[in-house]
Amino acid sequence: MERNMSEQSLFPTYARFPIALVKGKGSWVWDDQGNKYLDFMSGLAVANLGHAPDKIKRALIDQLDQLWHVSNLFRIPKQEEAAKALTDHTCADAVFFCNSGAEANEAAIKLARRYHQKVLGNGRYEIVTFVQSFHGRTLATLTATGQDKVKDGFLPLPDGFKYVELHDMAGLEAAVSDKTAAVMLEPVLAEGGIHPVDPAFMRAVRELCDKRGLLLILDEVQTGMGRTGKLFAHEHYGIEPDIFTVAKGLGSGFPVGAMLAKEKLREAFPPGSHASTFGGTPLASAAVKATVETMVEERVPERAAEMGSYLMERLREKLAGHPLVKEIRGMGLIVGIDCVQPVAELVREAQTQGLLVVTAGPNVLRLLPNLLVTREEIDQAVGILANLFAGRTAQV
Ligand SMILES: *Cc1c(COP(=O)(O)O)cnc(C)c1O
Repeated sequence: MERNMSEQSLFPTYARFPIALVKGKGSWVWDDQGNKYLDFMSGLAVANLGHAPDKIKRALIDQLDQLWHVSNLFRIPKQEEAAKALTDHTCADAVFFCNSGAEANEAAIKLARRYHQKVLGNGRYEIVTFVQSFHGRTLATLTATGQDKVKDGFLPLPDGFKYVELHDMAGLEAAVSDKTAAVMLEPVLAEGGIHPVDPAFMRAVRELCDKRGLLLILDEVQTGMGRTGKLFAHEHYGIEPDIFTVAKGLGSGFPVGAMLAKEKLREAFPPGSHASTFGGTPLASAAVKATVETMVEERVPERAAEMGSYLMERLREKLAGHPLVKEIRGMGLIVGIDCVQPVAELVREAQTQGLLVVTAGPNVLRLLPNLLVTREEIDQAVGILANLFAGRTAQV
């Protein structure tokens, strides 16, 4: 990997591509050499309304003229409006704002423990999560994550997490004890390879939680904000979580996260129990409010569902039956092409053809276009991928 002088000042935590993106609009980004790319990763499911969407930009500029930051020791009207936009359009009653997906999940874990320990007074603390899940990089959320690679070198890890295989109901029942506070899962295991949770399993998990007095936490950091064809993925399942988390697409690129929960959990987070200096600043809140309102007013999730079906159709038409392709799966506009071998090289080749995509685990090519992507852009992306796959058959 080439490394220039200015990179020397950064920790080498990322295996970066040798491309410097400097401009973005809608589905397109440009690098510092003037090359143009069709963006089918959206900053990892962040730019759900495309790059620099006008309405969010205007809301941010208006807020920049008013007030950027104020302490949560004061009322923040914009934060209240952003929270109301979220509670008006979801099953949640209360919102806690933070700055990232990991922080939102950290808040969810803390809320679940505190609800059991302080409201119900039963001392429960264990959280059951799933193998191949991803919940973040703080100590608690990397412990919650069901993948060993994120834990390497960070011992000792916090206590109180158990893991079961996705779709293993008997395993889940066995993992639950009188210490269990919550079950936590992603509606689509995203980093783990784009595995949508089976509807019957999701309903069975909800029933188990009800029966055993557990909270159901859904990590919608990647699946939320219209990505799967509903504002939140759990709406597909006909169930309601007790707690769910959101971040990536929440501010259309402005960094912000949130934990949302049902009314009964409100009293578990009284004054002083949890806090964040930057959580829900006027600027972040302006981005959230404009993003949620735009998604609802312009029926963006429905568009994602429609474009997701179209993308899936085109991919199946061009790639199904290809010797490298095992399965094409997804939900709305989070789509994985599961291959029989590692796909890192394909990602690099796609970049040279002007298409940005990302992996999800070693063998899965992940497509995350913005939710306003056009049919023409989908045709273009699928065309590039089809050519790359065709070229690869020849090599094999
Ligand atoms: C990205 C992601 C996180 C972590 O979010 P950060 O903002 O990077 O902390 C957590 N859970 C899921 C499902 C994610 O996709």
